[in-house]
Amino acid sequence: MAFQPQLKILINRDEITRAVDRLACEINSDYRDRHPLVIGVLRGCFVFLADLIRRLDLPLDIDFIRLCSYGAARESSGKVVVVQGLKTPIRGRDVLVVEDIVDTGITISFLLDYLKKRRPASLRLCALTDKPSRRRVPVPIDYLGFTVPDEFIVGYGLDCDQRFRNLPDIYILEQ
Ligand code: 5GP
Ligand code: MG
Repeated sequence: MAFQPQLKILINRDEITRAVDRLACEINSDYRDRHPLVIGVLRGCFVFLADLIRRLDLPLDIDFIRLCSYGAARESSGKVVVVQGLKTPIRGRDVLVVEDIVDTGITISFLLDYLKKRRPASLRLCALTDKPSRRRVPVPIDYLGFTVPDEFIVGYGLDCDQRFRNLPDIYILEQ
């Protein structure tokens, strides 16, 4: 395909499957006898979330939130707004946020503050990937798939201008 030369494989589908199994195992054990509300951060989370929840052996609800941070296309500006809000009340719920990547941490720390104000019983974060080298705001990640280098990654839900979300593996997009 025409875009192939720009893409360098970083994490293949088997490694992703093993990581999702491991995370699901941890979540199943930590949330035993509970009924969490899983909140996916659109749009990057959707492939990961779909795989993860099918391995969760728990009663659970799912909702989505969409955030926008204005600025350059490839990074957060620091100003985050909710563009599509939750439909489910979260007060008193065990909330598990599912995110594709924590980069500067600005988006997710905004979201965690936003959710905390609504008084969930508990609030945890599950992130597929973490790019700690670029962190500007500390973020506690309770369940983490992979630490990734300071590169722009795509695939398995992650996009570049809405492309590449459908790729089953994770790639570095070379400039
Ligand atoms: P943060 O606010 O942590 O800097 O950025 C979070 C958001 O920026 C992610 O949810 C994602 O949408 C986008 N982002 C950051 N790094 C990458 C990357 O390497 N690849 C892709 N596709 N998106 C990224
Ligand atoms: Mg995201």
